[in-house]
Amino acid sequence: MDFDAFFQDSLARLKSEGNYRVFADIERRKGAFPCATRHHEDGESEVTVWCSNDYLGMGQHPVVLEAMHEALERCGAGAGGTRNISGTNHYHVLLERELADLHGKEAALLFTSGYVSNWATLGTLASRIPGCIVLSDALNHASMIEGIRHSRAQKHVFAHNDPADLDRRLSQLDPDAPKLVAFESVYSMDGDIAPIAEICDVAERHGAMTYLDEVHGVGLYGPRGGGIAEREGLMDRITVIEGTLGKAYGVMGGYIAGSAAMCDFVRSFSSGFIFTTALPPAVAAGACAAVRYLKTSQMERERQRRNVRLVRARLAGIGIPTLDNPSHIVPVMVGDPVKCKRISDWLMATHGIYVQPINYPTVPKGTERLRITPSPVHSDGDIDRLIAALSEIWSECALHRNYNVA
Ligand SMILES: *Cc1c(COP(=O)(O)O)cnc(C)c1O
Repeated sequence: MDFDAFFQDSLARLKSEGNYRVFADIERRKGAFPCATRHHEDGESEVTVWCSNDYLGMGQHPVVLEAMHEALERCGAGAGGTRNISGTNHYHVLLERELADLHGKEAALLFTSGYVSNWATLGTLASRIPGCIVLSDALNHASMIEGIRHSRAQKHVFAHNDPADLDRRLSQLDPDAPKLVAFESVYSMDGDIAPIAEICDVAERHGAMTYLDEVHGVGLYGPRGGGIAEREGLMDRITVIEGTLGKAYGVMGGYIAGSAAMCDFVRSFSSGFIFTTALPPAVAAGACAAVRYLKTSQMERERQRRNVRLVRARLAGIGIPTLDNPSHIVPVMVGDPVKCKRISDWLMATHGIYVQPINYPTVPKGTERLRITPSPVHSDGDIDRLIAALSEIWSECALHRNYNVA
């Protein structure tokens, strides 16, 4: 077989569909975020990032950087091993305590990323609990789907954010079989929020455990940044809360929080936890500082909310269609992969505005969009420039405007 010809053919097909991914080569500048330097064929230019998951700008926060510098000086670069074989650094232990406290749980367990935490935990629980049946929301993240698949457990997909459908499906199963309901709080592409209380009601009625991905909620919602479940007073009803340290907390890593026995079980049986080098101590220290800081500081969350409201209102004012939702994610709907990419390229080339196009398979075909994430560090001037540029390109491409929304 001509392997390279196969690879090239596959890529050519992706390109012709408009779904080929091109990475922007950017250099984030500490203290200047959302400004970054972009490297391209013709040299360098300055861009404003409007699509980052560093939702609160914690990636450049002095409290976080100071903690990382200090840990780097004290401990050096890497952890030096897996958690079991010399890699458990004191900073990991402190961070796990901080996370357990954040969610009001007995324990927490760290992973190298949110992806790994979902994949490893769901893979372990669903395969090791004898006869476990998984009920999975239709729009769950790829990391949860892969974890469930890896477990080889029986899986039923319930309609997105639909407790009645979940109830129906659970009712058809053996009442004595152990069951796990896996879902998210804030869904990252549409920005809609799950009816967590109703899903817990249904799960409890059927004796199922609950697994909640709060990746887009932690740091941002709840009085201490514990997520949507904290805001709604529901953390004690969730068996496993999963989160990331790479988005609102601005660093890297993933975790689960729950009972001491559950965390110890995953710690003891999960291949994706056991057989990999622990996070660098400085990363754990930075994440720990970010989590601790956002337990008390409301300033970043308040300013983010203000900017989200402002961007939404300004877009509505000029009739640019956004998906209405109760979160911090502002999806500007384009509905065509080629146009979506072209708009994104034009924003970057002519205005130094960086919004990555979101195409299939991340979102369904026909719902291609620009996913805008206003942060507390975007200025009013940044917002003015974004709105003016979008208005210009909307006219130029003769895209649909929706004045009813305003
Ligand atoms: C980004 C994301 C993850 C993975 O988290 P990382 O820390 O980036 O690996 C998990 N779940 C959802 C819903 C996500 O959007």
